Amino acid sequence: MQLNYIANTSVPSSSGKTIPVLDPSDGQVFDEIQRSNAADIDTAVRAARDCLDLVWHRVSAAERGRLLMRLSAKIAAHADELALIEQRDCGKPVKQAKADAAALVRYFEFYAGACDKLHGETIPYQDGYSVMTWREPHGVTGHIIPWNYPMQIFGRSVGGALAAGNVCVVKPAEDACLSLIRVAQLAAEVGFPAGALNIVTGYGHEVGDALARHKGIDHISFTGSPSVGTLIQQVAAERHCPVTLELGGKSPQIVFADADLDAAIPTIINAIVQNAGQTCSAGSRLLVEQSIYEPLLERLGQAFENLRVGPAAMDLDVGPLIRQSQQQRVWDFLSDAQVANIPMVAQGQIVDEAPDTGFYQAPTLLRDVPVMHRLAQEEVFGPVLCAMSFNNEEHAVELANATRFGLVAGVWTRDGARQFRMAKQIKSGQVFINNYGAGGGVELPFGGVKSSGYGREKGFEALYGFTTLKTVAIRHG
Ligand code: NAD
Repeated sequence: MQLNYIANTSVPSSSGKTIPVLDPSDGQVFDEIQRSNAADIDTAVRAARDCLDLVWHRVSAAERGRLLMRLSAKIAAHADELALIEQRDCGKPVKQAKADAAALVRYFEFYAGACDKLHGETIPYQDGYSVMTWREPHGVTGHIIPWNYPMQIFGRSVGGALAAGNVCVVKPAEDACLSLIRVAQLAAEVGFPAGALNIVTGYGHEVGDALARHKGIDHISFTGSPSVGTLIQQVAAERHCPVTLELGGKSPQIVFADADLDAAIPTIINAIVQNAGQTCSAGSRLLVEQSIYEPLLERLGQAFENLRVGPAAMDLDVGPLIRQSQQQRVWDFLSDAQVANIPMVAQGQIVDEAPDTGFYQAPTLLRDVPVMHRLAQEEVFGPVLCAMSFNNEEHAVELANATRFGLVAGVWTRDGARQFRMAKQIKSGQVFINNYGAGGGVELPFGGVKSSGYGREKGFEALYGFTTLKTVAIRHG
């Protein structure tokens, strides 16, 4: 049984209740986590505050950097163990789970190096004054993490917050907590003081809500669905607590007739099947210039038919979805497609070895999806790619911007001037030209516009979000 991790100690929830943990590959219970409540959040916030006031604020930026670097090395030494945990907890194919562990190592390495490079400024002002700005940590930061990439999202959110001098209370998703509990234990082993990093597990509407409401939380980093993002923002507004929202997307892959299709096709496929399509930045809409629509769909259809879906341990192209309700959600979207006579181009195959009790969904390529249909507007959060065609550049931009989201866009064209025009006109936090995601580099700031959220995590930019700016003006003349 897994316990909460508060003040470097494993503790049960005060409720005495637990939540079963299922393996998405076979749907069987293999562990349990604490079903925590507001009292547990209060304990964690107090531990964090004590740590901040008594210890952490005295730790120099250089020393924080050394601690983060030690944690990065420790995670690297335990990468296989963490990947195995994530594989079972989230149903991630082995390669993906290993990539997530490697990304976590890199996040802490990057933020370790950043700790002592976060400077204020001096500002030329009137004679007789000296004016400067200080970047100060918010204090106790709350982190609400989704289940799709627990280690990666923890790395970019908690890594940045600790580097900036905050102490953290983390609420992982009830469907995927295990790796983060282990990372907090590793942090204690490398010398993080008690209370610097606390993990409290449980349901969102109970313990997540309690975290967002707690008056001792000075900043909230939320990554999750747009609807819960709205709730968090409302709750935080009551006490004017700053919030970073990393929400969903309905990201377009835009392919012009002059694109290098050999490069584009594998990337387009990976962007929708990675993590079984349960990725905020999934390239879930495919916009194709009319003249190459048919040949591109034919090539993609053949590739989709070859995709194989199965248990995480088999390390195929696609693993299971996280849980039965997520599987049902994808089925509902696909039955809506049938009702609307949206043609299916191709589907991958679920292998015979996949247990019936697992949560599998074959990757599906749909075509001629009407731009206002919910399949082209809402996050499916499954391996479903919706294709549609466009007539010219203006039409491509119109379709790309025709959802409430604005997270990522991919553009495939060899025309340099068009690359710039598209990057300028697309309303999203990231535009990738002739690639998608740039390999996920931790250095690259990431976040959304519109209903995809606001604020940036990853990269150095995140450190500005995890600090507040104090202006100090001294009159001396
Ligand atoms: P979710 O919003 O249901 O849950 C996210 C987290 O919020 C979980 O820890 C959950 O327990 C918690 N939560 C739920 N209700 C809450 C409440 N009332 N108060 C406080 N916390 C609450 O989202 P999910 O289903 O876990 O994740 C999928 C969503 O996350 C998708 O929309 C996806 O696009 C988005 N996402 C975005 C990014 C990004 O960087 N933009 C990254 C990953 C996932």
